Amino acid sequence: MSSTTRYVFVTGGVTSSLGKGIISASLAKLLQARGYKVTIQKLDPYINIDPGTLNPYEHGECFVTNDGAETDLDLGHYERFLDTLTSKANNVTTGKIYQTVINKERRGDYLGKTVQVIPHITDEIKRRILKLGQNDAFDIVITEIGGTVGDIESLPYIESVRQLKWELGSNCIVIHLTLIPYLAATGELKTKPTQHSVKTFLEYGVQPDILVCRSEHPLNVDIRRKVALFCNVNINSVIESIDAESIYDVPLLMKKEQLDKVVLAKLKLPSGKEPDMTQWKDFLLKLKNPSSEIKIGLIGKYIELKDAYKSINESFIHAGVFNDCKVKLEWIHSEHITPENVAEKLHNLSGILVAPGFGHRGIEGKITAIKYARENKLPFLGICLGMQCAVIEFARNVMGLSGANSTEMDAQTPYPVIDIMEAQKQQTDKGGTMRLGEYPCNVTKGSKAFGVYGKTKIFERHRHRYEFNNTFLKDFEAHGMIPSGINPDTNLVEMVEIKDHPWFLGVQFHPEYKSTVANPHPIFIKFVKVAHEFSKK
Ligand code: GLN
Repeated sequence: MSSTTRYVFVTGGVTSSLGKGIISASLAKLLQARGYKVTIQKLDPYINIDPGTLNPYEHGECFVTNDGAETDLDLGHYERFLDTLTSKANNVTTGKIYQTVINKERRGDYLGKTVQVIPHITDEIKRRILKLGQNDAFDIVITEIGGTVGDIESLPYIESVRQLKWELGSNCIVIHLTLIPYLAATGELKTKPTQHSVKTFLEYGVQPDILVCRSEHPLNVDIRRKVALFCNVNINSVIESIDAESIYDVPLLMKKEQLDKVVLAKLKLPSGKEPDMTQWKDFLLKLKNPSSEIKIGLIGKYIELKDAYKSINESFIHAGVFNDCKVKLEWIHSEHITPENVAEKLHNLSGILVAPGFGHRGIEGKITAIKYARENKLPFLGICLGMQCAVIEFARNVMGLSGANSTEMDAQTPYPVIDIMEAQKQQTDKGGTMRLGEYPCNVTKGSKAFGVYGKTKIFERHRHRYEFNNTFLKDFEAHGMIPSGINPDTNLVEMVEIKDHPWFLGVQFHPEYKSTVANPHPIFIKFVKVAHEFSKK
């Protein structure tokens, strides 16, 4: 729509966790609905190269892109809201920035120079931001800066924003997301923390153009006027972001506040057509008024932090809306499941999902739950480690291979039904070396998996090191566990199912990374459908 790419920065003030990711995704959604090509980038101030090596307790789920980047979970929101792909370039960390600069230094690219935060680190940050706008791939690039203004860690990012604002003029704006807390004792909304946050921002040389104010109560005109006056913004640039029932409400709330219009006006871009949010509204209406409800057990070991399974949770929301049936997730800690209590824990559920994971903790509980689902014909979906556990359970309890295991859990197992690939054995580094990103898979005609996809060639995203061990394949088939998805290039088993079970599916890949509001994932759609039917029995 426009010849020059525009850049929008989203920063945070006062506290973390105000929802910069959702605000960015909501703004992007509205601009997309107005006909603009938009992408979102996340800059993370930590020194890890990517979140792949972080414990999910630290940082929530690690989202994987088609091109195999292990990224911040906000990229999941971007893809789910926009239904467009992100890539390696959409998530930058301080670790990546420094690695590039240090590699250049070793190569001699800066010979004779002292390598410094300004200009070398800031130049690399700017290069990564501007790169997304190259070749007119996008009209607008929204860059979200992790952390809170004032943090030591994010200073080089803020300095880069200052420089870009200067260099790009009106092609660049800054949205600052802050908090307007409510003091119950006096019944007042307080603007001081926001004023202070903007002052800190000004000390770094950045005047935000728009303030999005998170609040538990509506902002009246007086409050807006006060914020505008003290923070040097127009009153129409003080945007209320009231607590919402669902993250999917936020684009409509932002539309009501005209965030998209204010942004376009500041960027000197035409407002384009009125955003058509009919489909989105439809989705929300169904989300809030389901005709039925089912309970599905999510069995994992990181359940204390729901963000660890963000994409799975969202996939159930999308598939629930599609089936007009709310999915209530019952979070079950795999370490707490024993053969004695499994029936009590699972008997009132309409299906179970055994989650991805790493390491041996909680694995026996997962296997016990899978045995219950298999024997009681309870709909089952196993994702990644969940599929591997299903394979181990079947080997032990149906094929009689006592002690069968994955070599990840037991290197000495007599039956390594899940094993590490030759290529993986050579890897000594842990970061970024798993089987990552999108791989093709051939779906066997006539299988339940084929019933799900309705086609034989699919592409799904992976994130694992261990694989189904094909030495045992014939034996599995003979006992009734069949491979219903095979990688055409490597022959690796990507999906397994059980013949005499209404719905028992294990997938080595992560379908949850591909579910979006506009396109819920077929596996989740089918799983919810089958579980719903099961609940009526
Ligand atoms: N730990 C298993 C592997 O590396 C499964 C990984 C996962 O569930 N994402 O193969």
